[in-house]
Amino acid sequence: MTVGLRLLSVVFVLGAIVALIVSIPVLWGIVEDARKRRRERQTGELEPYELADETGRRSASDDDTRGSNQSTRITCRHCSTANDPAYTYCRHCVERL
Ligand SMILES: [Zn+2]
Repeated sequence: MTVGLRLLSVVFVLGAIVALIVSIPVLWGIVEDARKRRRERQTGELEPYELADETGRRSASDDDTRGSNQSTRITCRHCSTANDPAYTYCRHCVERL
């Protein structure tokens, strides 16, 4: 009975060791993948955050050009909000322009 228990514990320890050995390349692969992605982001191959900044800047500059060019805007009759001529409805009060 004690021999059986000892054998069971040996099998358990060996199983734990095997599981550890098997998991090392997997964990290493995850670490390497994260490192690679970080490197790509730094070198400019993969720039999700930069892309988001780019669109944010673009919309901001778009607003600036629209603001400076007042003649191309349509003022709402209901709330006097300046709207882009492309809009059919006021962006503020949603009334027809
Ligand atoms: Zn309006």
